[in-house]
Order: sequence, then structure tokens, then C-alpha cells
Amino acid sequence: MSREFQLYIVPTPIGNLKDITLRAVEVLKNVDIIACEDTRTTQKLLNHYDIKTKCYSYHKYNEKERVNFFKTLIKEGKKIALVSDAGTPLICDPGAVLIEELLKDGISVTSLPGACAVTTFLSQVPRNGEEFTFVGFIPRSAEGIKKIFNDNINRQLVFYEAPERILKTLDIIKSSRGDIRIALGRELSKLFEEIKIGKISELQEYFKDGIKGEIVCMIYPSLNIDEDELINRIKVLKSRGFKAKDISIILSSLFNENKNMIYDMAINID
Ligand code: SAM
Repeated sequence: MSREFQLYIVPTPIGNLKDITLRAVEVLKNVDIIACEDTRTTQKLLNHYDIKTKCYSYHKYNEKERVNFFKTLIKEGKKIALVSDAGTPLICDPGAVLIEELLKDGISVTSLPGACAVTTFLSQVPRNGEEFTFVGFIPRSAEGIKKIFNDNINRQLVFYEAPERILKTLDIIKSSRGDIRIALGRELSKLFEEIKIGKISELQEYFKDGIKGEIVCMIYPSLNIDEDELINRIKVLKSRGFKAKDISIILSSLFNENKNMIYDMAINID
């Protein structure tokens, strides 16, 4: 027997229609309405499982207006399920505004475990230890990409990226961090699913004719020296009047680290 809630956050498949739990189907059948991003996308899933519950759109452009509507329904005793187009709501998908508002009114919320591209990917990619940092969609600008990688130098950094941008993004990472190791997952749970792990240059060669589909990546940490120690050394050299360019030459050869990465750090550290 499951406890009853007023709002259910329900993960849906990320590619294979069968990747939905029995409980998720049961909840979607039994709630009074389903809040979803795109009613046409969700309707396909509902048809497949013969779920007759009515859908209402809820996405980043109307989420504020929809909150009051959903609140009123819940206060009338109705139960709601929130889904996104694919995977787990609130993981790079809308829902945060709704939950924030409902919690303020003491409305009970629960989430069901289920499909998510990050966990599907990480549960088949070898990692150096449990810790990782998920940053959602990587920024689009070269500056934004460099900053996020340089701010997380010692971390296993996981991110989503669009197929039309990924090769350029890899180039930017390579120019700033060197030819480091990366894992790339594509089309997970679908027909052309694949995982590639190797140096950036190896993946660039493998995908040289282009890359299609949905993508999730992880960059392995590349530092031979502790990050705090590196920052300290940069600060010391700066305080003694060394320019970022000289600092990058000295420290990169001393610790066998990427020169551009140290240069980027040196110009950003006061
Ligand atoms: N809420 C979703 C989740 O739980 O993973 C993520 C939604 S986000 C708007 C969509 C992005 O997730 C895609 O652009 C892609 O980067 C990643 N993604 C979704 N499905 C995927 C799949 N089957 N294989 C690889 N990446 C996927």
C-alpha cells in the first residue's frame, strides 16, 4: 500500500517506452489530471499505456499562471501528477516553481524513482570515486564553458549538450584543459545507444562525420596537483609580479598541467 499525496512527480521514459515503472502507470491512471510540458508528447505515452487522464500543459512559459489553477484543483480535493517530455521532472525540466508554491500552502508532494539521462549514463560509466558535479546544460559561449570547467577542475563534471554543438564544445574544452579524458553517452535506451570513453581527440576522430541524437557527457578531472595548492601558487607568483603568461609556462611545466588552463586560472584569480 502506498501513502497518498496531492502532487506526484512522475518520471517518464528517456527513449524506450517500456522504461516506466508499474507504480508510475498506476499513479498516472489514478490522478485527476496530469500536468505536462507538451500535451502531444505525453499523449503518446498515455495512449501506449491506455491511460485516460486529462493533460494540461505546464512549461516554463506558463508555469506561473498555471500554479494558481493547479492549487485551486488540489484544494478542491483533486490529485495531480507532474511529468516532463522525457525523464525526471526538475532535472533540466520545469516543475521547481510549481513545487515551491505548493509547499508554501502545505500541499503534500512526492516523487517517484525513475528514468533520468544522468543516472542512466553514470551507472554504466567508470568513475574515479562517487563524487560528481552535474551542471545541466553546458553554457553556449566559449567563455561560459571555460569558466565552468576551470571552476570545477578537480571534479568529474557531468553535463547535457546538444548534438549540433558538442564537437565545438569539445574543441573549446580541449583548448582550455588539454586533451583530457571524457565519457560521452548518446541515445541512451534507444536503438542507436552508445557510450564512448577516451581522450577528446579520440572522440573527435570517432565522430568526425558528425554526431546525432541526445547526449550526456562526463569530463574526468585532469589535475596532477591539488586545486587549492595550484591556486595558492598562482597567487604567490602574481603577488611577486609574474604575468599570467609566465605563470602558465612555469606551473604547467612544473606540474605537467595544461598551459592554457593555468593561464585562464591566472587571469581570473586576484
Ligand atoms: N529530465 C530529463 C532527464 O531526466 O534526464 C532531461 C531533460 S533535458 C530538457 C533533455 C536533455 O537530456 C537532452 O538534450 C540530452 O542532453 C539529455 N538526454 C535526454 N534523454 C537522453 C538520452 N536518451 N540519451 C542521452 N541523453 C539524453
